[in-house]
Amino acid sequence: MRAHTMDEHTAIGVTDAVKVYGHGDTAVRALDRVSLDLPARRFTAIMGPSGSGKSTLMHCLAGLDTVDAGRVRFGATELTGLSDSALTRLRRDRVGFVFQSFNLLPTMTAEENILLGLWLAGRRPDREWYTTVVDALGLRPRLRHKPCELSGGQQQRVACARALVGRPEVVFADEPTGSLDSRSGAEVLGFLRMSVRELGQTVVMVTHDPVAASYADHGVLLADGKVAAQLARPTTDTVLAALAGLGA
Ligand code: ADP
Repeated sequence: MRAHTMDEHTAIGVTDAVKVYGHGDTAVRALDRVSLDLPARRFTAIMGPSGSGKSTLMHCLAGLDTVDAGRVRFGATELTGLSDSALTRLRRDRVGFVFQSFNLLPTMTAEENILLGLWLAGRRPDREWYTTVVDALGLRPRLRHKPCELSGGQQQRVACARALVGRPEVVFADEPTGSLDSRSGAEVLGFLRMSVRELGQTVVMVTHDPVAASYADHGVLLADGKVAAQLARPTTDTVLAALAGLGA
C-alpha cells in the first residue's frame, strides 16, 4: 500500500480505496483500488461515464459513506473507522455541499437558507465572511426572497453561499449545473472557480459535462471504478479526447 504523507497541499488523500455493492455473482466493485491526492485550494472535477463510480467516490470522500478497504484521509483526519456520529460532525463542521437540485427549504428566505446550517450547529456566522460570500454571488438584493421567487441560477447561488458560509475545508458539488441553462450554469461554475482563486476554498465537483470540467484546475477521470486518467488544467477538448479514449 502506498503510504501517504499528508501536507498542506493535499485536502483529501485516498489510498487503495475499494467499495463493493452486493455479494457473490452480483457484486459490483464501484471503487476498485482508487488512489488519489486531491489538492487543497484547487478546483477538482471528477468525471467519467455513468456508472464509473463518481458518486460513490464523492460520498466516500465527503464522509457520507465509508470504503470497504483502503483509506480516506480528510485533512488530518483518517475517515476509516470513524463512528457515524464523528462522520456526521465532520460533514456538519468541515464540509459544504452543493446539489444538482438546490435542496433549499421552500418556506425560508435566501438568508435563512444560507445561515440555517450554522444555526443548527450552534455556530455564530462570521459576518465579514458572510458579506464577502453574499456579495461575491450578487445575492444581496435577493436575501429576503423565498426560493420560489428566485430563478434556478439564483437558487443555486444561494446553495453555493450556504455551502461556503461556514468556511468548510472542502465544498463538494454534485452535478451543480445539471438543472441549469448554460448561462446560469456558467455563472455558478465561474463562482465556484472564483471561490478557489480569490477566497482560497477547495472545491471538488462531480460532473459528466466536459464544459463544466473545463472550469476546474484538475480533472480525475474514472472508468469502471478505477482512475483512468488525471488531467492538469482540463479543457473541453482534452476532456472529450480523454473520454473518447475510454470508448465512452
Ligand atoms: P456514477 O456516479 O459514475 O454514475 P456510481 O458511483 O453511482 O457511478 O455507481 C458505480 C457502480 O456502483 C454502478 O455500477 C452502480 O450501479 C453501482 N451502485 C451504486 N450505488 C449502488 C447501490 N446502492 N447498490 C448497488 N449498486 C450500486
